[in-house]
Amino acid sequence: MIIERLAIVGVGLIGGSLARALREAGAVKSVVGIGRSRSNLEQALALGVVDEITQDAVLGVRGAQMVFISVPVCSIPSVVAEIAPALSPGCIVTDGGSVKTAIVRECEALMPPGCFFIGGHPIAGTEHSGAAASFATLYRGKRCILTPTERTDAAALELITSLWQLTGAEVCTMEPGHHDRIFAEISHLPHVVAYALVHAVGTADVEGENVLSYTAGGFRDFTRIASSDPAMWRDIALMNREALLKSIDGFSASLAELRRRIEAGDPQGMAEFFTIAKQFRDGIL
Ligand code: NAP
Repeated sequence: MIIERLAIVGVGLIGGSLARALREAGAVKSVVGIGRSRSNLEQALALGVVDEITQDAVLGVRGAQMVFISVPVCSIPSVVAEIAPALSPGCIVTDGGSVKTAIVRECEALMPPGCFFIGGHPIAGTEHSGAAASFATLYRGKRCILTPTERTDAAALELITSLWQLTGAEVCTMEPGHHDRIFAEISHLPHVVAYALVHAVGTADVEGENVLSYTAGGFRDFTRIASSDPAMWRDIALMNREALLKSIDGFSASLAELRRRIEAGDPQGMAEFFTIAKQFRDGIL
């Protein structure tokens, strides 16, 4: 399968890695990288992630058979609104955003007749950003979730599925709202908790000591994701606010229950709580 011209809007970790993986698989002929800052685009070009670069999205998507949008989630609908009038007939627009309901609803409605939008979310990433952080094997052995609706074109869905499979990803489909509720729990809540934990410890006052200077493996393992891009996570928290608030409430209740058992000096209750959590954690490894 060959895509003659693929446009990537946002050549960062996610967009750059897709470009690299599809090039390596021989699935694309040429890739145009579209972005805001010249420096990131020039780096993408120098690293061979893309063949051409432009800061003009309308110009960049002309003649593309497929457009992949990998900018922070709140910007995805406005990028799609900007490029929609310039899309070639038959063009498939898809994205890698971490939230799906609002994006799918707005972007589907923006498609001109004969063009198709398919929501996507590769379940892969690191805490690093930009074209230089991208690598071809990011998606290998990982899941990619596509979120078709009753409006989705079957052939377009089949093509996007095949492209993700060529990156080494396992593709599954899910209703957008279901996606957002699952990822509020499994991804958005852990990021919020990691940020809150580092914030709390970083501002803790223990007799004027810099507490963070004593951190070791456990703290660093647990808080790695708090090094992720704050603007990206601000957008995700805003866009999936409703589901995330429910997840935060569930977490608060769990923390309150553990606090109660600690305050009561209840060794059996604490051991039970820790054992249940350990069993869940061991089960996912
Ligand atoms: P990233 O490395 O920061 O890349 C985003 C790129 O988008 C940057 O190169 C930025 O370029 C460009 N950009 C930002 N706003 C733009 C705009 N309005 N128009 C054009 N270009 C714009 O971020 P990422 O990690 O690849 O994340 C991209 C998307 O993937 C997000 O929607 C995120 O939710 C999703 N995602 C991320 C992960 C993860 O673990 N990182 C995993 C799955 C999905 P400039 O520097 O020039 O602004």
